[in-house]
Amino acid sequence: MAASNSSVETQKISIDPALLKKSVIGDYHRIDLWEDVSELEWEDWHWQVKNRIHTKEDISHIIKITPEEEEGIRRSHGRLSAAITPYWAILIDPEDPNCPIRKQAIPTSFELKTSPHEMIDPCAEDRDSPVPGLVHRYPDRVLLLVTEMCFSYCRHCTRRRMVGENKNILDLKNIDKAIDYIRSDRKIRDVLISGGDPLMLEDDVLEEILKKLRAVSQIEVLRIGTRAPVTLPQRITNDLVSMLKKYSPLWISIHFNHPREITKRCKFACDMLADNGFPLGSQTVLLKGINDRPYIMKKLMHELLKIRVRPYYIYQCDPAKGTSHFRTPIATGINIIEKLRGYTTGYAVPTYVVDAPGGGGKIPVGPNYLISEAKDRYTFRNYKKKIYTYAETNED
Ligand SMILES: *Cc1c(COP(=O)(O)O)cnc(C)c1O
Ligand code: SF4
Repeated sequence: MAASNSSVETQKISIDPALLKKSVIGDYHRIDLWEDVSELEWEDWHWQVKNRIHTKEDISHIIKITPEEEEGIRRSHGRLSAAITPYWAILIDPEDPNCPIRKQAIPTSFELKTSPHEMIDPCAEDRDSPVPGLVHRYPDRVLLLVTEMCFSYCRHCTRRRMVGENKNILDLKNIDKAIDYIRSDRKIRDVLISGGDPLMLEDDVLEEILKKLRAVSQIEVLRIGTRAPVTLPQRITNDLVSMLKKYSPLWISIHFNHPREITKRCKFACDMLADNGFPLGSQTVLLKGINDRPYIMKKLMHELLKIRVRPYYIYQCDPAKGTSHFRTPIATGINIIEKLRGYTTGYAVPTYVVDAPGGGGKIPVGPNYLISEAKDRYTFRNYKKKIYTYAETNED
């Protein structure tokens, strides 16, 4: 078992009795690496981070590695590293080479391929960065990157240029400069804290950042973008929730890609957040062979509503270098929205967006319901492709 990140200390935690139910914790004893691990350890997020799997040797305890995966794992060093929390690893179906969790978690040689149009920094975030770690693209809101580390690394990560262990691109010393910048622009009313995964920071470090942001008078809302409820729901502790509550209104955007990610343990974590008043939204990356079929996406959106997460965005997979094997045509995304809108709960329909290469920001794309716009007459089609007209009375 590979241990990393020695700065992370294992601490004893008390677990909620409801969690002691085996069906919520998950059946990890079946993997020989973890057969002797206690439930207390398993439920300790620091233990999970320390015991993430990285190497071919570790991964071979979970799945039978394919030649493409072998090469991907061997060459992932120095690039977006491989790291998988034990919690996330046991969700992999060892029998299914196309398992959606496996495809997101295990590096493959396909990542080594570079395709035309792919870029290191596809959304030109670095260009719109007035201070390291801060991206200011829209007039009233900013993206604040506070760490480059995540619990588990996603092979499709759009920020793979900076995300990973020990990249040392972001430095918390810059946070004060970023906050000075935010304070100096009275138009900024919304700060989206992301990374990496901000919940990789210890509670007190994250609290320091939230406190400084809350002290900026024009800031109305804070947001955190995280994958913790998916890749390490144990991170959502009572202590974390009570700390975050002090900085309300705080919206939480969670990166979900497949209905199989919504386990009982994940629901438990999302319930803790929703019960404590945090509005939850989802962000999904459209990924070939993982969630590009309309019935899978619809199932994901339904499962999200059941755990009180409002589907927010489906992203076209950005043209980041080494991700071409995940990219679908844009028509695939449009068709998914076509199959959702009208056919299911409006709340279950997210916005499909293309983050414009070169830094144009998120552009919504979807089916066209407006067919023509003549003088005072709009012609539409509905979700079943029936035509309707709407006549406007023009009083002038
Ligand atoms: C996505 C993003 C935001 C937030 O956009 P919303 O549409 O408000 O969720 C802000 N800044 C940058 C640079 C972004 O990429
Ligand atoms: S959690 Fe987000 S930032 Fe981290 S590897 Fe996955 S996509 Fe990238």
